[in-house]
Amino acid sequence: MKTDTVTQIHITKAAKSKIKDVDFNNLNFGQEFSDHMLVCDYKDGQWETPKIVPYQPITLEPSAKIFHYGQSVFEGMKAYKDANDNVLLFRPMDNCKRLNISSKRLAIPELPEVYFMDGLTELLKLEKDWIPTSEGSALYIRPFIFASGQGFHASPANAYKFIIACAPSGPYFSGKVKVLIEETYSRSANGGVGFAKAGGNYAGQFYPTQLAKDKGYHQVIWTDDNTHEYIEEAGAMNVFARINDTLLTVPVSDRILDGITRKSVIEIAETEGIDVEIRKISVKELIEASQNGSLKELFGAGTAAVISPIASFGYRDQDYDLPVIENSYASLLKKRITDIQTNKAEDPFGWRFNV
Ligand SMILES: *Cc1c(COP(=O)(O)O)cnc(C)c1O
Repeated sequence: MKTDTVTQIHITKAAKSKIKDVDFNNLNFGQEFSDHMLVCDYKDGQWETPKIVPYQPITLEPSAKIFHYGQSVFEGMKAYKDANDNVLLFRPMDNCKRLNISSKRLAIPELPEVYFMDGLTELLKLEKDWIPTSEGSALYIRPFIFASGQGFHASPANAYKFIIACAPSGPYFSGKVKVLIEETYSRSANGGVGFAKAGGNYAGQFYPTQLAKDKGYHQVIWTDDNTHEYIEEAGAMNVFARINDTLLTVPVSDRILDGITRKSVIEIAETEGIDVEIRKISVKELIEASQNGSLKELFGAGTAAVISPIASFGYRDQDYDLPVIENSYASLLKKRITDIQTNKAEDPFGWRFNV
């Protein structure tokens, strides 16, 4: 078999494709899975050559450390197909590097970048037909690593699995989102794992988010764990605010995830001549800006939704509505990013990656 990857990846093909069972016109987000997955094992002190196998369940010991100590990290990315059937990724090397940054924090051994990139490339060549092409949909890609090694001893595992699974997906959110500014619970803390894409960060978010949902909100806006006066992230997305014509976002830190969408939004906005400020944003500033009419937009940014406009935010039993405006930054920036991702526009930044 001739490939243009360095790694010789053994492929075991699925006996029968499931693709006909999937309704590509009614895709949920991350509910249906493609025919194959990439699997790469770490044992005896090294990562073995990845292989591609049919998508299937995994067998683990009850004492596998993932179950007890939560050693797991993941990434989220998307593949698109352009009008000429080219398979495209968006800044995949950034996901690869971030996976290793996350791993390091959780004492998971670093994965060779070539295994990530070659494995992903080979898998996508095989799963090409699974990439949906309708507006807002994509093949959502989930690379993840977890501790498969066993033992109840509270220490890092000696075996890990790196897997990439793919899910043809429709748009992530529908409609505008109501968020609640959270003052009791924290997503992350100084010196913690907030900057890592660690599974446990999400587990810790579910309960406070459920409480917000019970009150009629869709998501929470996390504030700093120390004072709860400054906003940090919108659910599992980075957060942006537009006050007058300035686009604001908070600096990344060990509490805030360094989102690829966030940094792309910043670069595109600057290229568009939008004034961008990266600084702390207090809840007080948001409320004052809302009251005096200078708060024009609030939105989340992340791979799944790209840009998720916020319709209102709640704070201490009061709701503050965002105005409905024409020519929003949210829609402009979303269009610019998705046009680059799907090859509908030039890519002056060199972000697009041809598989
Ligand atoms: C994944 C994630 C984001 C968004 O990152 P992208 O690289 O833009 O997808 C933001 N915040 C948190 C907490 C995340 O887990």
